[in-house]
Amino acid sequence: MSDRFITTRYSTNCYHCKKTADQIITAVPNQAKVVCNNCGAARVFVPRIEDVSREGEYIRIGCYDQWKLVETATCRNCHVTGPHDMTIGCRHFIIRCRNCGFTHFYKFDLEYFENETTGS
Ligand SMILES: [Zn+2]
Ligand SMILES: [Zn+2]
Repeated sequence: MSDRFITTRYSTNCYHCKKTADQIITAVPNQAKVVCNNCGAARVFVPRIEDVSREGEYIRIGCYDQWKLVETATCRNCHVTGPHDMTIGCRHFIIRCRNCGFTHFYKFDLEYFENETTGS
């Protein structure tokens, strides 16, 4: 749908199952999610702020596993389709348009496990 912003995957050691597996990354304007393709461990991030920022702003150093990715997406601010810098850490999920600097800043909200059945 039109609200899909970025979908990508990143292969790394899962914090939960400790195996090297694709981490499925989905970002839409009102939520960002990382799900392990192997064990189903999911981390959900919710928007905290949207702003035009300078590179490096908001990013706190010291997180144990910070992923840096570049994905092509269409910016909601300048409407240019081009590279967006993604920074995903244990507590935050940041997407920044390289063209205009518009930044989506999400903070960690909750985690759950998609493979675990709930009831019946
Ligand atoms: Zn896993
Ligand atoms: Zn932009």
